[in-house]
Amino acid sequence: MITLSGGTGTPKLLHGIENIIPQKEIAVIVNTAEDLWVSGNLITPDIDTILYMFSNKIDLKKWWGIKDDSFNTHNQLKSIESNESMMIGDMDRATHIIRSDFIRNGDSLTIAIQKLSALFEIEANVMPMSDDPLATMITTEQEEMHFQDFWIKYKGKPNIINISIKGIENASISKNAIDALKSNNNVLIGPSNPITSIGPIIELPKMRNILKSKKVVAISPIIGNKPISGPAAKLMQAKGFEVSSIGVAEYYKDFLDVFIIDKKDTVKLSDFKNIGCEVIRADTLMTNMEKSTCLAKIAIDAFKNM
Ligand code: GDP
Repeated sequence: MITLSGGTGTPKLLHGIENIIPQKEIAVIVNTAEDLWVSGNLITPDIDTILYMFSNKIDLKKWWGIKDDSFNTHNQLKSIESNESMMIGDMDRATHIIRSDFIRNGDSLTIAIQKLSALFEIEANVMPMSDDPLATMITTEQEEMHFQDFWIKYKGKPNIINISIKGIENASISKNAIDALKSNNNVLIGPSNPITSIGPIIELPKMRNILKSKKVVAISPIIGNKPISGPAAKLMQAKGFEVSSIGVAEYYKDFLDVFIIDKKDTVKLSDFKNIGCEVIRADTLMTNMEKSTCLAKIAIDAFKNM
């Protein structure tokens, strides 16, 4: 099984998957369209959350950064002249420096992440979706900005006119991700933001066709008409999708086989008729490890029953 992931919802699920499948058998293809260079270093937010989760460093309260990190460098930079808007912890920044040095010395992102995984003693196969630089851009009434600026600097407030992924037309799926997809028939799409986390992965040239040939199980990140966290509602609206599990399933419909929605979701099963997928209801709110493990088990079992 290969899991497609962003940086919050799916890592929570992977935390549960780790309880069922040995780490060395877990393969994850991760969104890189939120990556950006900040204060001289390349930050890969979604990959980092996964690396920190698999190496038990993650701050489980926030689901980003390293637990008990300090922010001395960030504060010092701000007090001198930098306008670093991302809160970057000192230990977290060390990861960014090491990764950026690998890249400055000629490594691809795939190799840099493999080396970081080895340094963190991670056995799971964490693969960037692409080695090509990509950037999710948000167009507002005033300007076009990187998604991280929209979300962190402007707190997700500006009206969105358009969302685009710079570089996607000419980007390739990373070689390791292609190889992993060739040797695996089952693809799990975790409950991540469909537009800015899963969207860039499935919009990579050739990816939708590859997914059509696989068994695909996805978990909805939307319950009722609200995401659990983050800006998914505003982004889905801007892309013309209904903010609901139906809207998510619509976006995935050409390859989706089984869709897991929350048991509290009031949507009717008959509403999924046009999508042509099986629907499973479950408790999808992962507020602790036990709940992550239960949901992971339901997702894994869904492949067995196909
Ligand atoms: P990002 O890269 O930090 O934006 O993180 P993701 O895209 O991986 O995750 C954000 C999405 O995960 C949001 O749309 C949330 O609704 C969803 N999410 C977060 N926690 C949960 C959870 O416990 N259950 C479900 N079903 N969705 C969740």
